[in-house]
Amino acid sequence: MSAIALKDVLDARERIAGAIHRTPLVHSETLSSLSGVQVYLKLENLQKTGSFKIRGACSKIFSLPPEEGRRGIITASSGNHGQAVAYASRMRGYSATVIMPEGGSPVKAASIKGYGAELLYCGTKSDERISLARRMSEERGLTFVPPYDDEFVMAGQGTAGLEIVEDLDGVSAVLVPTGGCGLISGIATAVKEKNPSVAVFGVEPDGSDSTGISFRAGRRTALRDINTIADGIRTTIPGELTFPVVQRYVDDMLAVTDDDVLRAQRLMLERCKLLAEPTGAVSLAAMLSGALPDRFKGKRVVALVSGGNVAMMRLAECLARSC
Ligand SMILES: *Cc1c(COP(=O)(O)O)cnc(C)c1O
Repeated sequence: MSAIALKDVLDARERIAGAIHRTPLVHSETLSSLSGVQVYLKLENLQKTGSFKIRGACSKIFSLPPEEGRRGIITASSGNHGQAVAYASRMRGYSATVIMPEGGSPVKAASIKGYGAELLYCGTKSDERISLARRMSEERGLTFVPPYDDEFVMAGQGTAGLEIVEDLDGVSAVLVPTGGCGLISGIATAVKEKNPSVAVFGVEPDGSDSTGISFRAGRRTALRDINTIADGIRTTIPGELTFPVVQRYVDDMLAVTDDDVLRAQRLMLERCKLLAEPTGAVSLAAMLSGALPDRFKGKRVVALVSGGNVAMMRLAECLARSC
């Protein structure tokens, strides 16, 4: 039994309709000639709050009975999920608390505060923050909105997959940046249950490849050290609910280097005038680096550009490193 099915994604779409953007799916000639595949970019960097995370946050928060929501919302996040939860909570008039990693992005922190949420800082690893959030939710009666390991969140993220299969005829593969696997489990469910012939690949930096390792081992396996520029996917282990969906529906996990990621980020900006954060460029990096299997040459392949939240100072560093 899977945690979610196509029906859950369709229900999520109905729940969040009007609250999110249907983002563009654009073809790039330049990126196609550089990679040898027909590159389509699904632009979740242009989504409300700057990443796809608003899909899952709205799906979860809008599913709560009002009396539960009014007690308040809490989450743990390296940034984008926190922004999304703050934004979605405010849409419903609920108060939100967001636990960020120490040393997390100041731009993300400012945006979370700007959406009216309270900020707390704790540790640097996602599991430390998640256990604090769970404890506070028990002690104070707040509703915990997990960043990925939740059926409503997974179904919400899957709505991006519905849009892809509806908007592009003849799509051969979809590439998805992968952290805790909420995004890819939702997308793979939507895409495979609509059209099983479309391949779905997860992409990770080679310094943060816990899902790839787990996928090959056939069980959830934790990484000790995380080393990547892609700060949205520094996850030590794939989710409990999400990973079985990955095992069932994902064709393979691909890995790229940070240099591949920075080059992809730079090319999108330079050639397409599109700003992605490093994590958002991981999927395109797999097409440009040769990580995607050769059988997709000439085929229509979608890179999900998962987010665009990057501080301008950090962008300057990324661009300098990509030379
Ligand atoms: C959260 C996030 C991801 C990964 O999503 P998971 O559901 O954790 O796999 C990818 N890209 C960006 C920009 C994100 O914020």
